[in-house]
Amino acid sequence: MADITEYDLIVIGGGPAGYAGAIRAGQLGKKVACIEMERAGGTCLNWGCIPTKALLKSADLYQKIKKAESFGINVQGVTFDFAKVMERSRGVSTQMAKGIEFLFKKNKVDYIIGKGRVDAPGLVSVVDGEHKGKFFKTKNILIATGCKMRRIPGLEYDGVRVMTSREALANTKLPKSAIIVGAGAIGVEFAYFFNAFGVKVTLVEMLPQILPIEDEEVAKTLHRSFEKQGIKIHTNTKCENFRVGADSVKVDLISGDQKTEIEGEILLSAIGVVANYEGVLAPSLKPDLDRNFLKVDAKYQTTIKGIYGAGDIIGPPWLAHIATFEAVNAVNGMFGHGEAKRVKNFPGCTYCQPQVSSTGFTEKVAKEKGLDYKVGKFPFTASGKAVASSESEGFVKVISDAKTGEIYGAHIIGSEATELIAEYGLAVELEATIEEIHQTIHAHPTLSEAVMEAAAASSGEAIHI
Ligand SMILES: Cc1cc2nc3c(=O)[nH]c(=O)nc-3n(C[C@H](O)[C@H](O)[C@H](O)COP(=O)(O)OP(=O)(O)OC[C@H]3O[C@@H](n4cnc5c(N)ncnc54)[C@H](O)[C@@H]3O)c2cc1C
Repeated sequence: MADITEYDLIVIGGGPAGYAGAIRAGQLGKKVACIEMERAGGTCLNWGCIPTKALLKSADLYQKIKKAESFGINVQGVTFDFAKVMERSRGVSTQMAKGIEFLFKKNKVDYIIGKGRVDAPGLVSVVDGEHKGKFFKTKNILIATGCKMRRIPGLEYDGVRVMTSREALANTKLPKSAIIVGAGAIGVEFAYFFNAFGVKVTLVEMLPQILPIEDEEVAKTLHRSFEKQGIKIHTNTKCENFRVGADSVKVDLISGDQKTEIEGEILLSAIGVVANYEGVLAPSLKPDLDRNFLKVDAKYQTTIKGIYGAGDIIGPPWLAHIATFEAVNAVNGMFGHGEAKRVKNFPGCTYCQPQVSSTGFTEKVAKEKGLDYKVGKFPFTASGKAVASSESEGFVKVISDAKTGEIYGAHIIGSEATELIAEYGLAVELEATIEEIHQTIHAHPTLSEAVMEAAAASSGEAIHI
């Protein structure tokens, strides 16, 4: 080990946590390496956020073209090429992953392709790939190895009949029917995507509502919209007794004492994630875990000095923007550049149509906390821009302190909901009030007026309802 390179920081994992942490260290002038065993960009750019959004864009466009006549535009013989839809999505991923490699170069991050392992605090080796057998000394280590999709025990994931989102993103054959198990953001996005291209979709959720962590009213509105679009939904329902045949998968749906058999050409399971530590730590290293995720302190340090964690591996919420925030803050704290901030408020988005977004407390949480709150709501049917665009489904709902008007949370369902939520994100962060949002002039006609009108509606002052 005479000539081993020494770093200020070695990051293991090149996803939104890992690449952002490495780039931040580069910006701070530190000697840094990022070890990634697949491709820079992680789940997000390669198998998550970005390729799914590319698919959803194709689905939206196809749906819009089918409605072109109502806009006075005649389009005949609209067809689609599903293999090309999928190919485009893979191309977008490649482009974005290459972008990260460019950013690594720009910020002097050594990008090492291979499987990284922490052998001891201050010592990392590459155990697989072309750099196999190399050791690196480092002052700090950031573990950012993310999560893997949770699998249904006993079910074989062959990528043909049974798959997770990962295999679905590489599948160029459009099935005639699909059973989707789990109606969180991933399940819901795939349900919308497949249905938009004519697949008979059955969406099954064991909890009482689809998008279980979202506002109840929002989830109900999406449920109705999905049923109108043709998606079959079973909530409060468990899947049991999976039978995988040559051409289809059969499943029993259990709801109360009722049992129904359904059949689909494919089954996509979207039942959450599990931490990915596989081979990341030498067996002698046993940092404390918190519900099976890496336990970190206020500075993102694990219970082993000099070893930090950020992103999906340290637990929920499992979102790319959270991963990046955590890693950047871990690195800032590590090198004494301000304090390491922990996540407080954050937006959550689902990119089906209508889109769903939220930040802060739901009404249910406000109730459970015994807060004295009020609700302001504004429907997109009253928004000129939404009606002009034929996108008037949904509403903006804001929850604020009944006395001070401080914003506790906001929930949006409708067109561009995932863009509109940013304003309420800033409002919650700055502890702004509904009055301050109301008194901010919003351009007309824009969908953002609905954000302002919902704030105004909290005190009965909305003009357009
Ligand atoms: C289908 C899908 C859609 C999603 N959509 C969204 C969305 O719209 N918005 C959103 O915010 N989030 C979304 N997510 C979640 C998001 O992808 C994750 O929260 C995010 O990628 C977490 O970042 P991370 O850096 O912690 O982990 P990851 O992105 O998972 O990166 C971890 C990286 O570590 C690498 N690695 C693992 N072990 C080793 C090792 N020993 N050595 C070297 N490298 C290793 C892996 O190859 C991987 O590249 C989605 C996820 C999925 C699956």
